[in-house]
Amino acid sequence: MLTAEIIAIGSELLTPDRADTNSLWLTEKLNAIGIEVKLKTIVGDDDARLEETIKDALRRSRVVITTGGLGPTEDDITRKIAARAMSRRLVLNEAVLDALREKFMRWGRKMPEINTRQAMIIEGAEVLDNPHGSAPGMYLEHEGRSVILLPGPPREMRPMYETHVSARLMAKAGDVRVARRVLRVSGLGESAVDERIAPVYTQYKNPQTTILFNRSEIEIHLTAQGKSEQEAELLLDGLAGQIEERLGDAIFAFRGEQMEEIIGLRLAVNGFTLAVAESCTGGLIAERLTEVPGSSTYFMEGVVTYSNDAKVRLLGVPSDLIAEYGAVSAPVAEAMAEGVRERAGTDFGLSVTGIAGPGGGTEDKPVGLVYIALSDDAHTEHRKLLLPGDRQLIRWRASQAALDLLRRRLI
Ligand code: AMP
Ligand code: MG
Repeated sequence: MLTAEIIAIGSELLTPDRADTNSLWLTEKLNAIGIEVKLKTIVGDDDARLEETIKDALRRSRVVITTGGLGPTEDDITRKIAARAMSRRLVLNEAVLDALREKFMRWGRKMPEINTRQAMIIEGAEVLDNPHGSAPGMYLEHEGRSVILLPGPPREMRPMYETHVSARLMAKAGDVRVARRVLRVSGLGESAVDERIAPVYTQYKNPQTTILFNRSEIEIHLTAQGKSEQEAELLLDGLAGQIEERLGDAIFAFRGEQMEEIIGLRLAVNGFTLAVAESCTGGLIAERLTEVPGSSTYFMEGVVTYSNDAKVRLLGVPSDLIAEYGAVSAPVAEAMAEGVRERAGTDFGLSVTGIAGPGGGTEDKPVGLVYIALSDDAHTEHRKLLLPGDRQLIRWRASQAALDLLRRRLI
């Protein structure tokens, strides 16, 4: 497999204010055409360090892509340093200069003298036109390496890659295609997932399997290589099928979908409607559900009933139920789910009540104690959860568990 390395250039990328997103985007594009990114570097606008970085990259990687540092100012050093690292000259390219002058004219400005710098091209490089900005990119073959210099602003870098670079690299990569898939699992821990599926996935080098823990779920990342996209996808189908045999309903998404998307799909195809009553999640479930386009067809309403009074007044939870069991209890959770379903006239009512902390916990009812309940016209059920984490995490996990309870009912 062809190996690539990406160098993100710019001192701003070494501050806490700016992230290098170009390399993420490029990595996805490169992977898709069967090129593996082996290393990424972020380097500031520093002559010596950049030269060292480029030289190292040329030694070890077949494809070297830089982004940034192609602007017209003194701190834009990529041209100069890349030329130096390859012992090539920088030559003023008259055609590029004319085009640059013309570009400024179209923008209604006279080209500042310092922009002449952007017409300095590395000897032997091909100029990559930049319709979205002033900095042209460059492409050159140097001692068996493909070297590509792209501008920093994503809106300039991306179209330049798509137009001038992608097809060339694809031809170089040959018949290798990479496909990825993310399976998402709820209700099982990392080790439980691994225990069940390790006997399967360890038999394969291709696809490769990685198991990650996210905020409230396990993600299984599968990466396959094939001679074509179809072949890679087929390999993924095979392994994903075997993993499904071992995990069953615990897998809620096979293509990286969010829980709320899956719920939306299931509700929509069945023509079901949903209303939600939330306490400790404060509207998070409603927020997640309504992030999905088209959710208005199945999500009817969400109420945040934070106080006891609101639970009584808006959901009809009997106040003596709260007095007897407390607001964070199974009977109250069930009464909330029933109350919201009846009042909204929906097929399902979903509720959450719990203690997100950091204060408010007792020995009986510690921080992280959450009850979720689901009601339809046939019956109401609840789950008691003891969720680890800080306030934010508990709220997220409670929302996920509630949605998952509904998902399992919809299967
Ligand atoms: P430059 O080409 O160095 O003049 O970069 C101009 C602008 O592009 C910077 O101010 C950043 O906002 C943006 N930029 C540069 N490099 C990156 C990167 N690796 N990821 C995302 N944005 C970037
Ligand atoms: Mg810069």
